[in-house]
Amino acid sequence: MMTQNQELILIVVSEPQVTFLLERMLKSLGYAVQSCPDRQTALKLLPAVNPALVFLGEKLSDGSGLSLAGEVLRRFPSAPIILFVAQESPEVLKSAMRMGITEYLCLPLRAEDLNRAIKNALEIARLRKEAVLIESRRATAGLQRQLDELETLTRLGRTVTGSLDLDHVLTAVVEAAVELTAAEEGSLLLLDEDTGELYMRAARNFQEEFVRTFRIPVQDTLAGSVIRNGQSVLLDDNTPQKIKTAYLVQSLLYVPLSMNGHVFGVLGVDNRQNRLPFTDHHIKLLNALAEFAVIAIENARLYAATISEQRKMETVLTSVRDGVILLDQDQRLVLVNNVVREALGLGEERLTGRPFREIFNQPALLELIETLGKTVSNRTELSVEDGRIFSVQISPIPEVGLAFTLSDITSLKKLDQIKSDFVHTVSHDLRSPLTAILGYVELIERAGNINDLQRDFIRRVQVSVHNITSLVDDLLDLGRIEAGFDTRKESVQLDQIIHYSADGLRKKLAEKGHHLQINLPTSMPPILANPVQMRQMIDNLLDNALKYTPAGGTITISGHVEKSQVILQVIDNGIGIPSLDLPYIFDKFYRASNATPEMAGTGLGLAIVKSIIEGHQGRVWVDSTVGEGTTITIVLPVSGG
Ligand code: ATP
Ligand code: MG
Repeated sequence: MMTQNQELILIVVSEPQVTFLLERMLKSLGYAVQSCPDRQTALKLLPAVNPALVFLGEKLSDGSGLSLAGEVLRRFPSAPIILFVAQESPEVLKSAMRMGITEYLCLPLRAEDLNRAIKNALEIARLRKEAVLIESRRATAGLQRQLDELETLTRLGRTVTGSLDLDHVLTAVVEAAVELTAAEEGSLLLLDEDTGELYMRAARNFQEEFVRTFRIPVQDTLAGSVIRNGQSVLLDDNTPQKIKTAYLVQSLLYVPLSMNGHVFGVLGVDNRQNRLPFTDHHIKLLNALAEFAVIAIENARLYAATISEQRKMETVLTSVRDGVILLDQDQRLVLVNNVVREALGLGEERLTGRPFREIFNQPALLELIETLGKTVSNRTELSVEDGRIFSVQISPIPEVGLAFTLSDITSLKKLDQIKSDFVHTVSHDLRSPLTAILGYVELIERAGNINDLQRDFIRRVQVSVHNITSLVDDLLDLGRIEAGFDTRKESVQLDQIIHYSADGLRKKLAEKGHHLQINLPTSMPPILANPVQMRQMIDNLLDNALKYTPAGGTITISGHVEKSQVILQVIDNGIGIPSLDLPYIFDKFYRASNATPEMAGTGLGLAIVKSIIEGHQGRVWVDSTVGEGTTITIVLPVSGG
């Protein structure tokens, strides 16, 4: 029976007598034994029995014992093997030695020889194993060190990307440099571009006072040479110390910090006391750390630049005299300046990031956002509590969001009012004398004979007085509408009014050879409106379409009802309106730059239209392309607003 601490010896010998002998002797020496006569069985047994030692016969039934030994040693390099030879032959022994088999036995077998050979073989195997173990421990230690280095570098990488605090990052870089090179001190020097000197931006194990006052020129210093040449410097006992350092050191390593080929700093470690030299490996490590420092410095620079740009922008926007509201693409507030805060009573509260609708409830602003892109002007007026009136313009800003600009137009509004009052008074006072003139002119013809020339003059006087009268009428209409007189509303059949208006213009249309198309739904619901003003509105729009379309044009009036709104469009294929004029054509007396003197007009028609529509809580806008035509769109609430 084999006990547990008995070592097992495998005998691979082809001669049964030798096997028998060996078995007996080994057992009597206290070993467990297993034997087999050939190579193949041996190879199977080996991993299963894991022998402490193998006896190998020189000749086996299926090959040479030495070739089996080679195979065994390839798999278990430190396996102890004793070769059994029939007789000592120098060739065989030489080959055995080459393979690392140190022990052999031959007949006659003696117990003491056997014992000694076993002891030797086992001892040698033990020594080999130990050597392997020591080597592998050394390798593991090396790996561990590399792992530590990697870990330090990764940790630093995280600090660099995760922190915008430059002091913190650079100190971490220097600390890692000291740690990874096992140095006594470390420092990070940066070039002061103004003075051309190097100062210490971060340090480890230097006295604070020293760090603060440290300044060395680039010329004639070791650190300076790194800046000048962009090469790292490694100093130890063997290096001739020609170049001055700011302090005495035993060994030192400096690597450059550079960005796009421009060297602007130095990362260094040194030893003042111990004489441990730095190696090429340390240069590599320090270079990697220097990269981190460069990234951190560049990050900080970019961040500072961004912040300063942002501050500049904010200062500009807060200091301008116009109000500014900036929204992001989700309609959350990015910026609101003091003008707006003050005008809309928003106080000092921090509002950035909040949804637009949560902060602003002014219908004018909300409607601007809703109708964005649907109207040409994107403008509205906003009255605030203190009585001021702002003109609000909304503009989409690509990749940012939306901007509202508010300009105070209170004084312009006042002027406008004064002008309206003035125009109203004057036109009112003009109307009576004009009527008188017309009356008397008519009387001239009746008062006696006149010649043809006189008749022609009278005609001209009549035409001119008519023109002035219609201008005065327009002015009075506008005055009345703007003043909000005549606000009576009744159920109005818009389609009828459109047909009446078109009939009234038939003659003029025919004169110019225009083609008029009316596309209205068969049953249009009545709307609540002022019938006189509706007629004025349609007349004015048709008059424009007719006047600003060259002979033979097509004018279309189309209408439909959508939800509780009537949408009307007057479309012509006339001269169009230049885009620069578009925002102003609803202003009083404004005429587009392409209107020629033959297209007589005062610039009041559309102002009247706009006032009427505003009185009905509707909306009007224009789309036009020069040379192609104009479309005026009107939206009126069926309920009359
Ligand atoms: P009024 O209507 O008072 O006789 P007007 O036609 O010049 O004068 P508006 O009706 O207010 O004034 O129109 C303002 C300007 O807009 C016009 O002078 C013209 O330049 C331009 N305009 C208006 N409608 C059209 C249109 N359908 N096609 C081209 N331009 C137009
Ligand atoms: Mg007109």
